[in-house]
Amino acid sequence: MTQPLSVSPGSQIRLADFDARYIEGNWTKQSAREAIRENTAISRDLAYRLYAENRRAVLLILQGMDTAGKDGTIRTVMTGINPQSCQIVPFKQPSDLELDHDFLWRIHHAVPRRGNIGIFNRSHYEDVLVVRVHKLVPESELATRFDRINDFEQLMIDAGVTIIKCFLHISKEEQKERLQARLDNPNKRWKFSKADIAERARWDDYQRAYEDALTRCNTKLAPWQIIPSDRKWYRNMTVSRLLRATLEKLNPQFPPCEEGLENINIH
Ligand code: AMP
Ligand code: MG
Repeated sequence: MTQPLSVSPGSQIRLADFDARYIEGNWTKQSAREAIRENTAISRDLAYRLYAENRRAVLLILQGMDTAGKDGTIRTVMTGINPQSCQIVPFKQPSDLELDHDFLWRIHHAVPRRGNIGIFNRSHYEDVLVVRVHKLVPESELATRFDRINDFEQLMIDAGVTIIKCFLHISKEEQKERLQARLDNPNKRWKFSKADIAERARWDDYQRAYEDALTRCNTKLAPWQIIPSDRKWYRNMTVSRLLRATLEKLNPQFPPCEEGLENINIH
């Protein structure tokens, strides 16, 4: 059975219906690696044009449970893209200053400028995920946030930002392996926090919060993509393909040059 990456706006998303180990067709690690190379090469050229065109922007939003592979995806997908034309913004626990503002204040500031590709490593969705699971704001305020988020994303779209939203979907078993691997590898141990264990214990609460966020904020112009992520190579291939397809669709053009340049010889 083929598993779609996205579902039509309005339909209820149940994560249990999505297999985190799903692989479409005959993809192998080898063929995915080749596809990633091709996708990133094409995206690099299109990103150059987007930058030259200087009219529109792309925003890739990455969400997922701990160890889902947000960092690894960024590393792979952005390889070769001119760092000058991209901005990667990780969202951590809000500072006191950020908490003294509305929840979108810090996000709005980080939206990619014209010509750029922006990546959010976590995003405004944390404000309906971790915030909800830990009951950091009253239920009544949470209830309005989905609409606020949809309005905010529409505002970005109106300003020429194309939004790609990826939920990196891993299984609970895979997370166990990856957390253990972090503990066992001295070079990865820094990524581990004892708090990760407490968060893992709330797995079901998070899945429910994700299901609501993915369902309520799955809009026609900014749909959620549910990326099977138990296999890193498949995850990376899928996200790199999405980025490439988005840039191809935008088809950015070099801006017109001043007239008469073809006859100029520099002495
Ligand atoms: P990491 O991505 O591993 O560096 O961890 C960042 C941490 O910041 C995660 O535990 C997030 O849940 C947390 N975080 C991000 N945004 C928010 C937010 N708006 N409110 C509370 N915690 C957040
Ligand atoms: Mg972490």
